Amino acid sequence: MSQRPAIPNPPYHGGCLCGAVRYRLDSRPLAINACHCLDCRKLTGASNLLMVVADRASFHQEKGAVDSWRKTAESGRQIDIIRCKTCGTRLWHEPLANPALVFIAAGTLDNSDWAVPASHIWVEKARPGTHFQPDALKVTGQPATREMLMDAFAAIYGA
Ligand SMILES: [Zn+2]
Ligand SMILES: [Zn+2]
Repeated sequence: MSQRPAIPNPPYHGGCLCGAVRYRLDSRPLAINACHCLDCRKLTGASNLLMVVADRASFHQEKGAVDSWRKTAESGRQIDIIRCKTCGTRLWHEPLANPALVFIAAGTLDNSDWAVPASHIWVEKARPGTHFQPDALKVTGQPATREMLMDAFAAIYGA
C-alpha cells in the first residue's frame, strides 16, 4: 500500500466497537491531524491521537446512545468528548469554541486506511520511533491557528 492512499469520496461510515453507535460523514475531511501531547496519550491509551477534522453540519449520528465528558485544556479551551454509552469507545470530539467543526477519532471509521496525518502537533512530545510522513506539517506545541492544519491538508490533497 502506498504511503498516502487517495481519500475516497464521501460518505464515510463509522461506529464504536460494540456496534451500538453508528455515524456518517457526508463531506470530505478538512484536516487529518495527529496530536502527540501527553493528554492525548492518556485519552486514547495509545501512542497518539489521530483525528479527522470535518464539517459538523455534514456529520450525523445515526444510532446508539452516547456519553459526553467535557475536557478543559490549560489554555481554557473546552471540548466535549463523545463515547459509546455501552462499550466506551471514544468516537468524536465537539469543540465548544467552534461548533462548525467535529473531530472524528480516525480509528472508529469502518475504513481508516486513507486517514494518514497531513499534520502532527506537539511533535516534541512524540514517542521514540514515531513515523512522520515527509510531506506532513510538523508543529512544536499547539498550532497558532486551526487553519494551519487545514492549509497543510489542502496542500497535500487539494482543497
Ligand atoms: Zn459501543
Ligand atoms: Zn493532544
